[in-house]
Amino acid sequence: MTTPTDHDPAAALASVRHEFGEHGGVNLSIETSSTFTVLEAGTMPEMFQGMRGPDVGGCYLYGRHFNPTVLVLARQLAAMEACESAYCTGSGMAAISAVILQCCNAGEHVVASNTLYGGTWAFLNDFLPAKANITTTFVDTQDEDAVKSAFQSGTRVLYVETISNPTLRVPDLARLADLAHAHDARLVVDNTFAPLVVTPRLHGADVVIHSLTKFINGASDLVAGAVCADRAFIDELFDLHTGALMLLGPTLDPRGAYEIAMRLPHLPIRMREHAARAATFAQRLSDRGLPACYPGLADHPDHEQLSRISNPGFGAGGLLTVDLGTTEKANAFMEHLQNQEGFGYMAVSLGYAETLLSCPAASTSSELDDASLGDAGILPGLVRISVGYTGSLEQRWGQLERSLEAVGL
Ligand code: PLP
Repeated sequence: MTTPTDHDPAAALASVRHEFGEHGGVNLSIETSSTFTVLEAGTMPEMFQGMRGPDVGGCYLYGRHFNPTVLVLARQLAAMEACESAYCTGSGMAAISAVILQCCNAGEHVVASNTLYGGTWAFLNDFLPAKANITTTFVDTQDEDAVKSAFQSGTRVLYVETISNPTLRVPDLARLADLAHAHDARLVVDNTFAPLVVTPRLHGADVVIHSLTKFINGASDLVAGAVCADRAFIDELFDLHTGALMLLGPTLDPRGAYEIAMRLPHLPIRMREHAARAATFAQRLSDRGLPACYPGLADHPDHEQLSRISNPGFGAGGLLTVDLGTTEKANAFMEHLQNQEGFGYMAVSLGYAETLLSCPAASTSSELDDASLGDAGILPGLVRISVGYTGSLEQRWGQLERSLEAVGL
């Protein structure tokens, strides 16, 4: 494993150059073929037996298996995440579901954070028990004793988000990795909120997942995901008999992979600007006496924790929340920002150039029942703000201030 001090994620990202395009183009070519020819008939059975592949002889078999364009993106993401290998999926949920199904057999168990993206929560809480007899215990992963007592003999996964959606809590990954490994389980970390900010593998994560739909693509025009891990785990996902990516088939289309690969070179610049603006807005909201939550603020409960594990230079991420007390106030604030000020959109998702505003209790976390929303601390008036970077900072702050004043804050 790379040690925290010698991993510069932006440098690692840049270290994997695109292959030249056909005709020497500076951009990579899009390999659209869904099937690949061989020169000798004997090569095909060798690929089925795993004796040849992209890394052994440059052999490709079929588009649901590996594709050269998708593999370029996967290699860049693996390098960024200090992982041996990676592959890309058609969505973040495809990556999450494939990883959990790969790690757990029927009758086995997951320990998961009680504050997770609503789709992940529903997959663990509702889908898996019904469809696969895989159960989950949700715990406050900031509470080590609660985590310890949640493990069962069949626990195979401890699942967290680096910066949790939408509560922005930051778990102690190294401690959780130790606990998972002591129980023969894998630590699986969804790093969607913190690309470049944190490299979970350096802190013991076994599998790192991304929804590429968010910051990594950054243009809100594609849905995609990725799994980064050691080579053995990625190979397992492509096993012909038991591989969740091979058999459930949620692969990423090469055209989408190309688009995302073209946006990776400016990911470091974008992440810095998202974070710089989020930090300024969070501080100013807090100075105004509002309950702003941002892990870069000194009074955030996990400020020290994030400072310990974050890579230098990328701040504390591009998301902040502010609790406006009631759903009505939160809605009026978001409507004023979008419709009167032209700042941001009321929309789910995150990591876009424009600011995106949502009320998680009524949207991206609405899958959680009332008790689970309470346990996670997702209040009805909580507004999640994915801070964009268009316009000038002072222009945007003026729009925020006027919208707060419009709702009496
Ligand atoms: N993980 C997190 C933290 C998310 O916020 C989301 C979506 O909002 C997902 C995963 C799912 O990603 P996708 O929509 O690409 O399936």
